[in-house]
Amino acid sequence: MKIGIVGGGIAGLAAAWLLQEHHQVTLFEQQNRLGGHADAVEIEQDGEVALIDTGFEFFFDSMFPRFNRLLALIGATVHRYPISATLYRADHRRARLIPPYSREWFSWRAFHPCAIADLLLFQLVIARSARLIEAADPFLTLEDYLRTLRLPERFKTNFLYPFLLAQWCVELEEFKTFSAYNALKYTVMSRPTGFPPLSYGNEIVGGTRAYIAALETELTSTQIHLSANISAITNADGQFVLRDDHSGEYPFDRLIVATSAPTARRLLQDLTGTEARRAALGRIDYFTTTIAVHEDQRLMPANPAHWSVVNTRYDGTHSSNTIWKKWKSRKPIFRSWTTYDSVPPSPLHVVRTYEHPKVNLNYYRAQRELLSLQGEGNLWLAGLYMHDIDCHESALVSAINIARKLDPASGNLQRLLE
Ligand SMILES: Cc1cc2nc3c(=O)[nH]c(=O)nc-3n(C[C@H](O)[C@H](O)[C@H](O)COP(=O)(O)OP(=O)(O)OC[C@H]3O[C@@H](n4cnc5c(N)ncnc54)[C@H](O)[C@@H]3O)c2cc1C
Repeated sequence: MKIGIVGGGIAGLAAAWLLQEHHQVTLFEQQNRLGGHADAVEIEQDGEVALIDTGFEFFFDSMFPRFNRLLALIGATVHRYPISATLYRADHRRARLIPPYSREWFSWRAFHPCAIADLLLFQLVIARSARLIEAADPFLTLEDYLRTLRLPERFKTNFLYPFLLAQWCVELEEFKTFSAYNALKYTVMSRPTGFPPLSYGNEIVGGTRAYIAALETELTSTQIHLSANISAITNADGQFVLRDDHSGEYPFDRLIVATSAPTARRLLQDLTGTEARRAALGRIDYFTTTIAVHEDQRLMPANPAHWSVVNTRYDGTHSSNTIWKKWKSRKPIFRSWTTYDSVPPSPLHVVRTYEHPKVNLNYYRAQRELLSLQGEGNLWLAGLYMHDIDCHESALVSAINIARKLDPASGNLQRLLE
């Protein structure tokens, strides 16, 4: 069969990798690079180059089994590191170190009774939310779920909401309407283990770019069109006809749209029989997030002894993360969410903006509806919004689920599922 794939993020790339063995696969990507949200920049500093991921970066063993397996199959090397976090007030009057003991310097402040109380309550939330994650029921808002835990308001306001909120960086009132299951899954699944208890993250040696390059090398029989400009997708004689303004018209027996939901909706507008899917796609809202790569220490805790991998700055309204991986460069290079900052960091290297779905109950209603229509009329949707929570594993699994239907005998599928 001739299969057309629109979108060269992990969902589209994985679909091509899984289907190319027994089908004729063509992939269209609008940018001049593959990877989508797997994106990185090279920062030159004193004659050395540091690779800083700007989009997708965090994954770990317990929640990303298929992705870790994919990396092993394509020969990408993974480095494991302990994840530390600091939650601090923007006025620097309060800092919470999570966990309090994984530092190079001992900090008495981390063992202040209020700090210990916050950490104990945080552990309680994680322990009690394990059941929510196991049940995988996404139809409860974060606000309603946290109410059932009967937590002290002070802890919710000063610790829990700011800590979780920064993972999305939206308005707090909006965040409270997000699915509790989605908002808590990362935190629960990456809870500390071992002794002393620590959370570990994985990262790809050479950055996410290295794994996208390794995946691209494997796409030997996929035709790839970069910088594509798809101006129309129509039906004719039982086939899809896709027009790329740069390279021409292509007929396909099956079509996989692996873009964001709003783009998928727009691309399907001329296809008959897609009204229900377009309506569902239209119910998934997105927000714009701004990321800056910089060297401005003002976006870090005032005391360098409190610097962590994840540093969450909370000003009473907004909550934003700054990521610092000290092993990546001699002089610190930071990646910050700066969506709400009026003054850009300085020195500033790069600013990127991305569109990210709002993982509220409408998101899950749309996901259910789209899954019930999946494959109808030989049209398939792939991408993070088509499976579970908004993460890289979900985007990959969305492609796996399509391959299970379109080519259950695919060698790469068998190997990935082993
Ligand atoms: C700032 C940020 C940080 C994130 N961090 C993490 C993280 O740490 N861990 C995690 O698991 N997830 C993270 N994510 C979630 C991330 O979105 C997913 O992990 C995953 O990369 C999404 O993959 P995808 O293939 O569904 O979509 P995308 O990566 O968005 O890929 C869609 C592709 O379609 C292309 N496209 C769009 N329109 C067209 C068109 N008309 N024609 C052709 N091509 C088109 C796009 O250019 C893009 O390449 C993060 C997201 C953002 C925005």
